[in-house]
Amino acid sequence: MSHIPDTPLLPNFLAGRWQKGQGQGSTLFDPVLGTPLVRVDNTGLDLAEGFAFARNSGGAALRAMSYGQRAAMLGEVVKVLQAHRDAYYDIATRNSGTVTKDSAVDIDGGIFTLGFYAKQGAALGEASCLLDGERIRMGKDPLFQTQHVLKPTRGVALFINAFNFPSWGLWEKAAPALLSGVPVIVKPATATAWLTQRMVADVVEAGLLPAGALSVICGSSAGLMDQLQPFDVVSFTGSAETARLIRSHPAVAQRSVRCNIEADSLNSALLDPAATSDSEAFKLLVAEVAREMTVKSGQKCTAIRRVFVPRALYAAAAAAIGARLAKTTVGNPRNESVRMGALVSREQFHGVLAGIEHLKTEAEVLYDGAAAGLVDADPAVAACVAPVLLGTPDPVKANVLHEIEVFGPVATLMPYDSESQAWELIRRGEGSLVASVYSEDAAFIARAAAELADSHGRVHAISPDVAASQTGHGNVMPMSLHGGPGRAGGGEELGGLRALGFYHRRSAVQASSVALDALAATGVPFKP
Ligand code: NAP
Repeated sequence: MSHIPDTPLLPNFLAGRWQKGQGQGSTLFDPVLGTPLVRVDNTGLDLAEGFAFARNSGGAALRAMSYGQRAAMLGEVVKVLQAHRDAYYDIATRNSGTVTKDSAVDIDGGIFTLGFYAKQGAALGEASCLLDGERIRMGKDPLFQTQHVLKPTRGVALFINAFNFPSWGLWEKAAPALLSGVPVIVKPATATAWLTQRMVADVVEAGLLPAGALSVICGSSAGLMDQLQPFDVVSFTGSAETARLIRSHPAVAQRSVRCNIEADSLNSALLDPAATSDSEAFKLLVAEVAREMTVKSGQKCTAIRRVFVPRALYAAAAAAIGARLAKTTVGNPRNESVRMGALVSREQFHGVLAGIEHLKTEAEVLYDGAAAGLVDADPAVAACVAPVLLGTPDPVKANVLHEIEVFGPVATLMPYDSESQAWELIRRGEGSLVASVYSEDAAFIARAAAELADSHGRVHAISPDVAASQTGHGNVMPMSLHGGPGRAGGGEELGGLRALGFYHRRSAVQASSVALDALAATGVPFKP
């Protein structure tokens, strides 16, 4: 990213004060108009001082509060963010190029998640530790027993986030961390760091959090991992390639810093083998695939990338999904007729076009919205890509279709010949965040869940009876687990209070029943 000196330089908030980087920084752009917006830079910051301040001052102040007090604090943060929503939408339009409903997924999704943890945390009351399970006798005599307890770790939580969710990506991690009593340092992805920085600025300005509880560092990631000490944790969201660097960093590999990785994923949608082209299940799949391909221009880690239908319905599904996609007008999100805005940057634009070409080595184009042109946007400047549905009649022979995540409005349709082949093809994604199943048959849904649960963080079943209430294949809800095995990164986030586990250390306290009674008086049963 180049730098343009005249644009405002956003300060970082570290060691309890606003600090500007001493370098020229990187410029953030409007991905539709191509205009420069702001710059970010952290050159010359004393990272060691900032991490120590968060660890010592922020951590101590947060741990001095109960879960209930910290939950109430999150509730106040929600109010501050709600009061500034208009500014966040404005930044999202300018910096992410998203239409209002797509900005909402990020902005309101983040605020909703924070509010969820404020409510869940209130139920933990005045406790200062979590009691994990019942006491277990150590022998015949009930006098000496084990009680597992969870205590917040005495370190910082470093978040290294992806560009597609500058709001939700911060709050879905910060809510459980702060509720646990662990201070947060967030490093947003450079391309969209503005919204994260602005939200932190509003919360800092409101004076709701103890000094050191929330810091933001924008710009280069250089040196951040080097700061991590054994009781710190790092939560990374981004590409599998960067994830490899995080995992092999000495902080993780040698100092055992706990590490959560949310990486890319080739999520699937599966239609029941008994479906017909006029069945409800078919219609539900078509609607969900078209929606998932186009929400946030397909820049969602949970978006549907592979669509599996019974072979007899391959042509019908291609036609129906294509017809839906044809209604998606693409272009400048400021124009009210536009349904889908831009990708995040011109770099991503070129990356997605190259990715489509790569997939085309094994697939044909079933629908391409490019012919419709862009609304109010210059194709030579705007990072807008129209939706593309690819397909292959022979998914067993395909390789790249099961391997390459194209981070844009792109999916591949594939027919299957038997239930067992469908499971095999879905598993070729080698571990995904989510698979959705479309069926009117409860027994098939149960079989699909049993077959797919071990390779997916979430199995989302859509049947006609839940058509109106289902929350969406790609929507990450705070009460459900987010993460996935294998190439999805192997991480776990959210899942209600389960998320607190990452920020706590479990210890087995072996003591007399009387001593355990005294300990239990400071805790609350952990029932996620
Ligand atoms: P990325 O290039 O891997 O960047 C992710 C973050 O890592 C950014 O903050 C980036 O900073 C930082 N980074 C880059 N190099 C680093 C290094 N050597 N050490 C430490 N940090 C480093 O990923 P992206 O392109 O922003 O995100 C898109 C990908 O994220 C997609 O593949 C998507 O599937 C995945 N994703 C997954 C989830 C999930 O929850 N599973 C959610 C969203 C996105 P800079 O921006 O400054 O380079």
